[in-house]
Amino acid sequence: MSDPYQFPDLSDGSCVSIDTEMFFPENGLNQFSDQMKTIRKMCGECPVAKACLTYALHVEVDGIWAGTGVVTRQKLRRDLGIKAIKLHTQYTTEAMMAQTQHAIIARKRRANKKEQVA
Ligand code: SF4
Repeated sequence: MSDPYQFPDLSDGSCVSIDTEMFFPENGLNQFSDQMKTIRKMCGECPVAKACLTYALHVEVDGIWAGTGVVTRQKLRRDLGIKAIKLHTQYTTEAMMAQTQHAIIARKRRANKKEQVA
């Protein structure tokens, strides 16, 4: 099993070629909004959704990952007994190499951006 704290290869993700701004709404996003429905549909058909969600559950990132927002992921962590780490604590050499390798995707996903998603 791969390291769940390591940034995964999301290069086959359904969101890679689209404007990922929609995954990082400035003022949060109603989970019943059309935008959220669009995202959930895209993530539901995404071939790397499992890796995307696994990472987002283990590392405290902002934005919508695999159709889940920040609050939903907090609940999932509680239910699953997952202890997430802060993003900056994962910078071991190995993790940094992975970050570099997937730098383009990482930038697109903008893992550090601050916003609130219900
Ligand atoms: S599951 Fe992750 S990689 Fe796939 S479309 Fe959704 S946010 Fe993008």
